[in-house]
Amino acid sequence: MFGFLKERQRRRLRAQPVPEVWREIISDRLPFYDRLSPNDQNELLGHVQVFLAEKRFEGCDGLEVTDDIRVTIATQACLLLLHRRTDYFPRLLTILVYPSGFVVNEDRHLHGHVWGQGEEGRLGETGREMGSMVLAWDAIKSGARDPSDGKNLVLHEFAHQLDFEDFMGDGVPALGSRREKLSWAEVMKVEFAALRAADATGISTLLDTYGATNPAEFFAVATEAFFERPQALQQQHPRLYGEMRRFFRQDPARYSSEPAAG
Ligand SMILES: [Zn+2]
Repeated sequence: MFGFLKERQRRRLRAQPVPEVWREIISDRLPFYDRLSPNDQNELLGHVQVFLAEKRFEGCDGLEVTDDIRVTIATQACLLLLHRRTDYFPRLLTILVYPSGFVVNEDRHLHGHVWGQGEEGRLGETGREMGSMVLAWDAIKSGARDPSDGKNLVLHEFAHQLDFEDFMGDGVPALGSRREKLSWAEVMKVEFAALRAADATGISTLLDTYGATNPAEFFAVATEAFFERPQALQQQHPRLYGEMRRFFRQDPARYSSEPAAG
């Protein structure tokens, strides 16, 4: 019953008219949006309505949370939800936004997944048990501005949240059939090992070597590359691209604006 009411409420939210100011923010901040098909744009805006109605935002260090901040975060996060039945990152309740990188007290750092910036500085953080996510607004803006540099803080942190949907932060999101799971496990094992080896020897890689930290970071980094460097990923890591395409039910190589791989 509860699930039914929630779904009805979400359907209502998705059908609401989109405030004009949101469209302005999106066209200002998020170049990827214009490259989506009209159907995908509509679906995405519907998800953004639900996301913004359900998630709590808090500004930290004096930052005032504006529509600009909320819509910029929500639109990128919801890109990960297209074409699937979704419960809208159910383990995430609150998004804390700092004006810029923040410093984490290592004593209370509980296995959070971290987008690193030196030893103590963080640009983003979320954890399976946290119920929250911390993001730096200046890193969100710079990550959004260039849709094809392979780096995107919001996609990274929300990939972790997708990973938590099956109650584990192990780099394996909720997959469908046993065959899909087997195929995912085999491809990821090989790709993760290859990134670790490249990291150890200093060979330059398409995937950020932060992904060599563990399988959970590998998934988050691969998600950034999938949406921001899809053509290069498809070319250089076709099996990894294939797994990601099946999981995300999207083929961003078809609308990517990335420069030709050289
Ligand atoms: Zn991470």
